[in-house]
Amino acid sequence: MTDFNKAPVANAGIMDIHAYKAGGGQLNDAEKIYHLASNETPHGAPKEARDAIADLAQNIHLYPNSGSSNLRAAIAKKYDLDANKIVCSNGSDELLTLIAAAYIKQGDEAIISEYGFLVYKIAILANGGVPVVAKEINYTVDVDAILDNVTDKTKVVYLANPGNPTGTYINAGELNRLHKGLRSDIVLVVDSAYAEYCLEDDYNNGIDLVEANENVIMTRTFSKIYGLAALRVGWSYASETIVSVLNRIRGPFNVNSAAQAAGSAAIFADKFVDMSLQHNVKWAGIIKQRLTGLGINITPTHTNFMLIHFDDTNKTAEEADRYLCSHGVVLRRLEAYNIPNALRYTIGSDEANELVLSLLEKFIKS
Ligand SMILES: *Cc1c(COP(=O)(O)O)cnc(C)c1O
Repeated sequence: MTDFNKAPVANAGIMDIHAYKAGGGQLNDAEKIYHLASNETPHGAPKEARDAIADLAQNIHLYPNSGSSNLRAAIAKKYDLDANKIVCSNGSDELLTLIAAAYIKQGDEAIISEYGFLVYKIAILANGGVPVVAKEINYTVDVDAILDNVTDKTKVVYLANPGNPTGTYINAGELNRLHKGLRSDIVLVVDSAYAEYCLEDDYNNGIDLVEANENVIMTRTFSKIYGLAALRVGWSYASETIVSVLNRIRGPFNVNSAAQAAGSAAIFADKFVDMSLQHNVKWAGIIKQRLTGLGINITPTHTNFMLIHFDDTNKTAEEADRYLCSHGVVLRRLEAYNIPNALRYTIGSDEANELVLSLLEKFIKS
């Protein structure tokens, strides 16, 4: 008999997802809010990118370019890549989700690391997969732990390098060792969202691995150093095997026209990127010095944010967060990442950083 009282039931795994919560906070009536919780740049978007979208209002009745061909050509030119192996996306989050949809089915396993980006777990569970967690050492990805967790059911390994929320990275040798230890039918996702910020000589953003192998995909974003987070634009580089899969399942118009235009301009904004990097390096040094002086330990960072730990102070991260929020400063709480006594501090403007440091000095000494 037809039952008219049953609610629709979602696929297995979906109700196990903790819906992604963006960085926020309880703000009182502080006059000015400094939002340092989402790893956004304090420098706005490059002028080239803002100019590129200024006239777009005339054309919003037209569909975007379906293959993001100009944007792919711009990226290919900038990094000397094969444009046919690039897929652009509605933020790189979309790629992380598409990869799971393409390669993970009910009961399959995908490996993430202990403090891996939350979006990976959501994408795995949404497809009925089992997220298998590899322990980290000192908030750094442990290649052996990942390899120890591989089984016959493993389909995908997600690696953020540098990591979020840790800020740490594994070097080229370790990345190669990870790839060599995986079966060739396991997809290795190298999420290089912070590649532009990682200045170490032994860092490898994953492009070499993609060129040499069929089972690697590198993902990148315009949301961080390029300042286009609101437009949602990311891209990937992968073998033709993987590209032909992603192009079959992505939305036909997945990257909007503003995102394509702004991305194509931003990718050549070298001066803006250099200025951003200099600001970042300068402040990472100052913040480290002043906070460690207060007993706040900092995980070494290769990104535009810092993991700051309160274990060796007489205060908790929760108390610090409440105090900062009451003065209009929002850092990222990390309960969802199981690091409850630390905060993730996105390096902000001069003014924002001065404020955070002086507030924490007062707070720790109070
Ligand atoms: C910010 C971030 C992304 C990028 O997300 P977008 O969807 O491109 O805005 C991807 N991976 C990690 C680890 C990130 O921190």
